[in-house]
Amino acid sequence: MLRPKKPSPCILTVKDAFYLTPHMIRVVFTSPELASRPVGCEGANCKIFLPEVDQSADDLIEQIENGPRPTVRTYTVRNFRKDALELDIDFVAHGDEGPASAFAMRAKTGDFIGFRGPSDVKIKDYYADWYLVAADMSALPVASATLEAMPRDAKGLAIFEVQSEDDAQEIDAPEGVEIRWLVQSDPHVVSRAQEAMMRATELPKGVIQTCIAGESGVIKGLRGFLSNETDIPKQDIYISGYWKIGLIEDEHQIQKKLDV
Ligand SMILES: Cc1cc2nc3c(=O)[nH]c(=O)nc-3n(C[C@H](O)[C@H](O)[C@H](O)COP(=O)(O)OP(=O)(O)OC[C@H]3O[C@@H](n4cnc5c(N)ncnc54)[C@H](O)[C@@H]3O)c2cc1C
Repeated sequence: MLRPKKPSPCILTVKDAFYLTPHMIRVVFTSPELASRPVGCEGANCKIFLPEVDQSADDLIEQIENGPRPTVRTYTVRNFRKDALELDIDFVAHGDEGPASAFAMRAKTGDFIGFRGPSDVKIKDYYADWYLVAADMSALPVASATLEAMPRDAKGLAIFEVQSEDDAQEIDAPEGVEIRWLVQSDPHVVSRAQEAMMRATELPKGVIQTCIAGESGVIKGLRGFLSNETDIPKQDIYISGYWKIGLIEDEHQIQKKLDV
């Protein structure tokens, strides 16, 4: 069967940008090309391409298509309002050393990026008796979108580890999913708090699905726990390292491939 052709990369223009919480910036993008993207893509990842200083939008598209490869980073579609041709991406504000973080910290109306995606959503079917969600700030968007997409009678536990108490967000999760917030003020130290909380939780019998993502060192511990100490089948587990302390994204992607 022929797979539907992926939409070409396009330019998204900043409509608005604001701090949701002290370390999270929401950038609202717009483009007529969003008319070709599917509704319900919240939680799917996308590639963003960052322009050079003074680069034109046409030139960025030409570079995405024909090289040399521009600076590219992976992000999550947080909200998509197809009718309004608006798409939100929530960026962790982790300083100027990351080009994507730096872009978000300075984003203003009229700025632009290149965009490719979205990919498929991470969890396509919700069939579990109980859900286990865990995320740091980089994965708050995928975890929040997943909680919002769950059946309203879903049950489970969501563990979030954020940089300050004020980084906790309102999430429209099912009532039966308990949300617990942990604070790790220095994201550059591998935290074991999520793992400790998971170990201290008696996982119920029945089908469990997971949506877990965050810093790769933290994820390594959580993956070890899930695969060695639970009997959740692999196909019910979504777990992914979204960034790694000390590595830029391209280096992290290479390391992930070597680790497989
Ligand atoms: C599928 C997927 C979806 C993702 N979705 C999101 C999303 O919606 N929102 C989001 O904010 N991130 C998301 N990420 C993570 C994001 O791609 C990385 O954080 C990326 O490294 C950011 O690029 P940068 O240019 O800011 O920093 P880079 O140039 O890649 O890194 C520069 C330095 O910053 C450090 N760094 C990178 N990320 C963080 C961080 N979160 N906190 C502290 N230090 C960091 C690196 O270790 C490195 O030392 C996602 C990643 C994946 C794989």
